[in-house]
Amino acid sequence: MSMRRADILSWSVVVSLWGGGCVSPEAPDASATASEDSVGHLMPTQHAPSDEARFDDASSSLGAVHPDTVVTGNGMNYHGGPVLKGPVAIYDILYGSWVNGGPRSSDNGGTINLIETWIGNPTTGNDNDRWEKINSTYGDNTGNVLGHATLTKDAFDNFSAGTTLSTNNNSLQGVVARAINTGGLPLNANAVYFVLATSEVTATTGTAAYCSQFCGFHAHTTINGVDIKYAFIGNPDRCPSACEPQFPVSPNQNPAADAMVNVMAHELVESISDPDLNAWFDSAGQENADKCVFKYGPVQFDASGAKYNQTITGTAIGLHWLIQMNWENSRGGGCSQQLGGPFFTN
Ligand SMILES: [Zn+2]
Repeated sequence: MSMRRADILSWSVVVSLWGGGCVSPEAPDASATASEDSVGHLMPTQHAPSDEARFDDASSSLGAVHPDTVVTGNGMNYHGGPVLKGPVAIYDILYGSWVNGGPRSSDNGGTINLIETWIGNPTTGNDNDRWEKINSTYGDNTGNVLGHATLTKDAFDNFSAGTTLSTNNNSLQGVVARAINTGGLPLNANAVYFVLATSEVTATTGTAAYCSQFCGFHAHTTINGVDIKYAFIGNPDRCPSACEPQFPVSPNQNPAADAMVNVMAHELVESISDPDLNAWFDSAGQENADKCVFKYGPVQFDASGAKYNQTITGTAIGLHWLIQMNWENSRGGGCSQQLGGPFFTN
């Protein structure tokens, strides 16, 4: 596709989104904060998920990985744009009723605490760290992705733009700009700003809507002269069947948090490997996480019957997570749970 707008994560409408609906030109910029790329790149809502993991490679040994700058031929195409190199900062903009509590029981700080446990600052060797390292197989002409992002700071926003956020009228970009200009977040081009919204909030980008066409998306815009990468992640208790891989049970007994982490992970690695929507995507327009969306690889079951495929170990932490795989840009390419690990097709 000639012009990609942004990346949307959804589950049930992948084909229609990528069939052209997401690339129709939009009206010229409405303000200085909008760019031609102001429509997000979507993560679709989910199909009826298939829970059966199929092994492409029955070997449990790790394959050799030789990441180099701009390596192609692994099912991904490079389009010349930059990636985010070195340490990447994550900023969370906690939008809505996280502090005071909202209409769903998951609209509270406990949900944010769970999310930030997984996304925070992975310890080397933990499952979330090994997962992030897959992204180090992507590079640009000056270097490779590091594969480690660090949650750096939160900002709070009590509905400054109401309950409908959109890239079309710049209200979503405005939330990010306010968090920088008045909320204490740094102005940082090597970062991803996540707008995490409580369940009262919906969002649109282009013609697509949260819960109907997507579960999250990432995009970029110019704020104070700097290219800022941002993503929208809503509370999926608004639409569990569309955006929660499993409910009412989930590994942390909080289906919203467990689903939000999965969407956030998806948008994080895409925001790093394709921050300006002009670096890494395949011939169908799919970015790395899109190629593995809602594909988890082998799963285990906890005592409640919830599926999981990652465990974070360490002091006082023994939490389980269900995180989709990411596309490794080496060894021919494939979906994996960890850099150099076996590839799985489902
Ligand atoms: Zn995506």
